[in-house]
Amino acid sequence: MKKNNNLLEIPNINSKDAKIKELIYDVDDSLFNKVNYSKKELEHLCVCSGGTTSSCAKDGFTTLDLRKNYSKIHFDKESKLVTIGGGVIMGDLINHLEKHNRSFPIGLSKLPGAGYILTGGVSPLSRAHGLAIDNIESIKGFLGNGKFISLKKDQISPGKQLIWEAIKGAAPFFSIITEIGLKTIQSNPIEIIEGFVNLNELSEIIKLSEGFPENISLQWIYAQKIYIYIFAELKNYSEDKRTKEYLILLEKFPALEKNFYENFNVINFFPKELDLYELNANNHSEVISLLGEDLENDIPIFIKCLNEIMDNKPNNSCYIASQQLGCKTKQLIHGSSFFVHRNSTWKPWIYASWKKHDLQERKVVMDWMYNSWSILKRFFPNIHLAQLHNHLNSHREELTLAFGNRIDELKTLKNIFDPQNILPPL
Ligand SMILES: Cc1cc2nc3c(=O)[nH]c(=O)nc-3n(C[C@H](O)[C@H](O)[C@H](O)COP(=O)(O)OP(=O)(O)OC[C@H]3O[C@@H](n4cnc5c(N)ncnc54)[C@H](O)[C@@H]3O)c2cc1C
Repeated sequence: MKKNNNLLEIPNINSKDAKIKELIYDVDDSLFNKVNYSKKELEHLCVCSGGTTSSCAKDGFTTLDLRKNYSKIHFDKESKLVTIGGGVIMGDLINHLEKHNRSFPIGLSKLPGAGYILTGGVSPLSRAHGLAIDNIESIKGFLGNGKFISLKKDQISPGKQLIWEAIKGAAPFFSIITEIGLKTIQSNPIEIIEGFVNLNELSEIIKLSEGFPENISLQWIYAQKIYIYIFAELKNYSEDKRTKEYLILLEKFPALEKNFYENFNVINFFPKELDLYELNANNHSEVISLLGEDLENDIPIFIKCLNEIMDNKPNNSCYIASQQLGCKTKQLIHGSSFFVHRNSTWKPWIYASWKKHDLQERKVVMDWMYNSWSILKRFFPNIHLAQLHNHLNSHREELTLAFGNRIDELKTLKNIFDPQNILPPL
């Protein structure tokens, strides 16, 4: 996408390179009156918030870029709720909340935009504070038929209940969200135990982590080598015997070091300096995110499979990584949503990257991604639809594995509220 009117560049390189048809900034009637989206097979409106995915701009498609006109952030000191525009990126949200000693369960990067929240939002804080969608208090926006909607968590009429639930996890298919009200959380000190480990150590640490209390989570990345982060939110630490017991167990891993942070807002995961994977602006990429339950006795076989996958890695940019959910994300206290795989403990993702325009390498790399997915399916049978892949052959299967028994309800909503297929297809 061209740099336009001082807008930020698109972080995703595939989208940045796209030769788009038109760039628009406002959600108004003309957007919905256009009859041309469904003329060409599968053409639809692309929506850009953080611009971190390969689906926010495409060759020959129109992009609605929310970053220019939907970028406001307002924190209400009394209610401690924050209201953000649909084009706000998570780094700006966190920086704003930092001024008020508050935080929000953002993911491992500050780059993603509202797409992070609307597709679920898995954070190192999620085991204690839920997914990002669990913290949505209100939304404003437009359905694909142009109808304005404004919903508040405690005031949902029975007729709007299904829309409210579907916004939480499946919004991009039938709505354009221009404003989100979010609960914020108190900022607490954080301890991180991090460093390189070998496969045997990863195996031991995964085993340990499946017993972690809700304030501790494990995240790891296996690129050239394996790097882990054990993240602990220290609430009432002096009285927290269980947290101390777990953190002491990690002292036996010699390469791991302890770091303390004032709060979650100031942490940068996987920084460039660690040189964990090849960051290449000349590469294009796709990412697929999986979901699965505790590995328990399958840890050794999982580690064997991971080793096999990494042995077949086609280049140094590709990697596998994982985040840990559980505890609060397994509870239904936040109300029903379209993030249906609530029993999940692990969200691994496969990052597949190739030299742009090298179609031969693309094929090899995508084959590796799909092959790795099929190997990992026995442990992680479901999908976290954090990236929309309607341009890939796997889209249909991903939809089924993401929305499970709610896929028909989503199709019904799509038929009613986006009858022209203006928004990404199901
Ligand atoms: C470096 C990095 C780290 C990440 N870490 C995590 C993590 O820790 N946890 C996690 O859960 N995910 C993580 N993700 C995944 C990320 O949250 C999702 O891919 C998310 O969809 C990206 O949203 P975006 O707004 O940045 O992307 P965009 O490309 O702008 O949007 C993605 C899709 O969402 C839709 N969309 C975006 N905004 C709106 C809106 N306001 N209304 C309607 N539809 C909208 C668009 O249709 C678009 O196709 C990470 C991604 C990256 C690149």
